[in-house]
Amino acid sequence: MVYVFLGPPGAGKGTQGDLLSEKVHLPKLVTGDMFREEVSKGTELGREVQEIMQAGKLVSDEIVLRLVKERMRSEEYTPGCVFDGFPRTIDQAEALERLLEKEGKKIDLVFNIIASDEELVKRLSGRRICQDCQKLYNIYFNPPAQEDCCGACGGRLIQRKDDTEQTILERLAVYKNKTSPLIEFYNKRSVLREISGSGAIEEVFKRVLSRLERG
Ligand code: AMP
Repeated sequence: MVYVFLGPPGAGKGTQGDLLSEKVHLPKLVTGDMFREEVSKGTELGREVQEIMQAGKLVSDEIVLRLVKERMRSEEYTPGCVFDGFPRTIDQAEALERLLEKEGKKIDLVFNIIASDEELVKRLSGRRICQDCQKLYNIYFNPPAQEDCCGACGGRLIQRKDDTEQTILERLAVYKNKTSPLIEFYNKRSVLREISGSGAIEEVFKRVLSRLERG
């Protein structure tokens, strides 16, 4: 099975994707985490994408697709996966379709998480991420038990460099221009399911599960 989480930055794709991945026992494929890992390791690719990410722009389709194809070759992904942050452009979505087709797979469902711009800005500016295990927190909606400390691994919680106000606005604009056309793309293929992203994490996940059960 292959699931995709679509939606603007801050809608809760990461958190809901984690919960679904656990529930259906499928690995996640998170392009943003893959790039952040390259940046923190200081690889050549990391140096190449660092500025683009900090500016809130999209990494080129060519680079993203190379990385996704490489990752999907791993056996771990044979049963399928939960995509978060990918695809983000029509070209990426078309390339993913071709890639899955070759393996006799297809996208089963796309969850489009909806939230207002006001809510997104608040969520992104309050977001904190564990620098070791990437677990997500939010100082307003989902605070850690101990300030700045990850409840799962004890790692230090940091604010992503692209969660600053200036970059947040750019990321929202990029989403509207480049990524939101995917809503129509997947709607035409009858796999799109709209999920309201407002309310508590558990409430949103109940909506995801109910759409999942209905197919
Ligand atoms: P995210 O954690 O999904 O918000 O991704 C963080 C940043 O990584 C984005 O703002 C982009 O610069 C880059 N990125 C992640 N996924 C993609 C993608 N599928 N296409 C292009 N750029 C991406």
